[in-house]
Amino acid sequence: MHLTWLEVELRRWRVAGRRVRLWWRDDDARAPSAELDRLLATAAGRPLTLAVIPDGDIAALGARLQGQAGVSIVQHGVDHTNRRKGPVAGEFPPEWRRIRVATQVRAGWARLAPLPGAMQAFVPPWNDVHPELPVVLGDCGFAGWSAWGQDAVEGAPPRVDAHLDLMRWKGGARFRGEAKFLGELRRLLTARRRAGLWDEPVGLLTHHLAHDEAAWAFLTRFTAWADGQPQIDWTGLPELLAAGAPVARSA
Ligand SMILES: [Zn+2]
Repeated sequence: MHLTWLEVELRRWRVAGRRVRLWWRDDDARAPSAELDRLLATAAGRPLTLAVIPDGDIAALGARLQGQAGVSIVQHGVDHTNRRKGPVAGEFPPEWRRIRVATQVRAGWARLAPLPGAMQAFVPPWNDVHPELPVVLGDCGFAGWSAWGQDAVEGAPPRVDAHLDLMRWKGGARFRGEAKFLGELRRLLTARRRAGLWDEPVGLLTHHLAHDEAAWAFLTRFTAWADGQPQIDWTGLPELLAAGAPVARSA
């Protein structure tokens, strides 16, 4: 793998006596599938958060995930239908009132709550954040939520984002490429070190239904590589939310 600069950065973390908290979110499961089997085999017990769309075959998914170590289930929207006009996709148009958003969110959670490993956290499809969403999630008793690309977000409920996308999406979903992926990981670590945000997790984002062979092959290599890095800890979302995000700055 193209590791040199990343290894230099990790050495800086080691010298500083700090550890990288890596967490893993996979989006868009609705039901069991061969791709989900492959994802679970690749995760192999590492902490994995599955963001599940609540309109699928939830009973079959529950049966598949029974006894699956390390897997947390969170809610990925309500039906993954784009109801926004214009270039930005999202389930909840901005003009929807709080009560309407809350009704939808509650109905979705009621379907997912019985799943093994379910935790009441929310991932908005397309990472689209309706202005009322944080308040709705708080009102509905959510322990946290996750969207895209922000670090150390203030507010309640706590938000822990994903930052590192395995895929690229423009022009059709395909593997981002090893150099781009590892370069982005290095950039994220450098930014955290410079800001003193040592405890800010790095969120790996995958989409098992969209992976090409190159993405699967790299994911297998990357997870094994990360296992072998003394400075990198796989961390579960439940642990991150229990620790209370956002994390305090410590230079
Ligand atoms: Zn999605």
